[in-house]
Amino acid sequence: MALDQQLLEILACPDTHHAPLDYDADAATLTCTECGRIFPIRDDIPILLLDEAVEPSTAPGSPDPSSSADSSSSADSSSSAASSSSSDSSDSSDEEGK
Ligand SMILES: [Zn+2]
Repeated sequence: MALDQQLLEILACPDTHHAPLDYDADAATLTCTECGRIFPIRDDIPILLLDEAVEPSTAPGSPDPSSSADSSSSADSSSSAASSSSSDSSDSSDEEGK
């Protein structure tokens, strides 16, 4: 139950690079030589769909530069209360005296 070699030659990754695929007869998979996606083969039919492809899992221990955010922001609360309320109430007292 091997895929036809001619078929293999025309098969390509459905991604934009259309790279040739590596046929793994034992695992019944097609591995993209470009992006490393692994496409399953079901009933001798290669499933060349990005949705069906198994993306290459990131190797364990991948470099992960964890940059801890070092933000020590001192809160400056400058309270400038300028309250100058000068109410001049000039009462004009009317004198009604005759
Ligand atoms: Zn690919």
